[in-house]
Amino acid sequence: MATLVEDKSNRLRMTGRGGELVGAYWDELFTARERGAQVVWYNGHALNPLFQAAGISWCHGEAFSARLAAQHLEGPAQLAGEEYGYVNELCSYSRTHLGCAVLTNDFGEGETGIVGAVDQRELASRLPEPDFFVNGYQGCSTGQQWDQMSYRILGKKVPIFTLSLPYMFGSKPDAGYLVGEEWETATNYVVDQLEKLIEFLEAQTGRPFDYDKLGEIMGYIKAASQLRREAMALCMAKPTPATYWDWVACIAHINFMPAGQRLIDYFQGVKDEVVERLANGVSGVANERYRLYFDGIMNWNKLGWLARKFADTDAAVICGRYTHQNFWQEPQLIDPENPLRGLAQHYLLCSNSQGFKTLKEAMVKDCDDYGIDGIIFHASRTCRAYTNHQHLLARVAEKQLGLPTTFFEGDIADAAFYKDEILEVRLAALLETIDAKRART
Ligand code: SF4
Repeated sequence: MATLVEDKSNRLRMTGRGGELVGAYWDELFTARERGAQVVWYNGHALNPLFQAAGISWCHGEAFSARLAAQHLEGPAQLAGEEYGYVNELCSYSRTHLGCAVLTNDFGEGETGIVGAVDQRELASRLPEPDFFVNGYQGCSTGQQWDQMSYRILGKKVPIFTLSLPYMFGSKPDAGYLVGEEWETATNYVVDQLEKLIEFLEAQTGRPFDYDKLGEIMGYIKAASQLRREAMALCMAKPTPATYWDWVACIAHINFMPAGQRLIDYFQGVKDEVVERLANGVSGVANERYRLYFDGIMNWNKLGWLARKFADTDAAVICGRYTHQNFWQEPQLIDPENPLRGLAQHYLLCSNSQGFKTLKEAMVKDCDDYGIDGIIFHASRTCRAYTNHQHLLARVAEKQLGLPTTFFEGDIADAAFYKDEILEVRLAALLETIDAKRART
């Protein structure tokens, strides 16, 4: 039985404004056909600047699945996917989106026999069918095959382009974060892949690709991501003015929404609010007593619930792998004059595609920088890729940093895997361990 918790979380005001922007983006996508725009479905990395420059409307598969989960609307799509034959152990992002492809497929206006017509209208008729697919996933075989499955569901009639992106093992002696031969070779390889993708986009649109426009877009992304990183860094303060949940709420904006002055204004607003809180001594969690790091992809259907649950125990979740080691986290790499290189390097930096050595160094640095007391690992049931290194990371945290850790089970977009009692018990134990450690020192 879930426990009701007091709401001691103090989310940024800008979160509400951010929600409006995201809603407007999706509404615009849902009317793409009426505007005569082409639509691409894509998965994985942030390919949206290329689509924006090419004048195409885009749907990011994970984002759409996450949005449905956050709105608790994922059930019908997952049921459709399950009835089509996908087991519920399959990544719930892909299961939801594949279910949308099933629903989007033209089964006629009436009953589909899969789920009710009302659900179909809600989910499928709003998401325009793709004109083509682009897959840009690395570090996860499910991600790489996901669009191939959608391609089959839609009768193999929709063109598909798969971007090949190498995993960054980081095992050679000179390998490191942003340095080494592997980094340079992989960058050049991905730039070459992006040039091929641009040829594909030109063939699909019948127009020459607008490189100037891409440079302009990358300039907006660079400015917005600098503001985002600066605002995050202000949360090294104790107590923190904002929390991990605020950064989760900004992911959509930096990861797939159209780049423009509005994006910069939004992140300027976020940073201004954080600065204002610091000046006025306002904290992201009332009575902050514990500072935690969160490792794992977000449980999108539990975002508000988890924010309240942690705050209720006086635990401020400050930062995490998902928010702080992804999504244009190195804006200085973006050069609007040479946009493909910055894009390629950004894709290579996805934490899902990094070997253990790099992940370990990043976690250690964030724990030191943000004054972390303990780590909570979200063992996402259907995302194997992100859970790969978690036990190794936990060992490093305990042995090298002396930080207590704990795990809880859940999932990215399927609430059925979340067990509230498990989180409650393990979080309490983690906080007791932190208390015991403090009492000894
Ligand atoms: S299993 Fe994880 S990494 Fe792979 S596609 Fe699903 S969410 Fe992405």
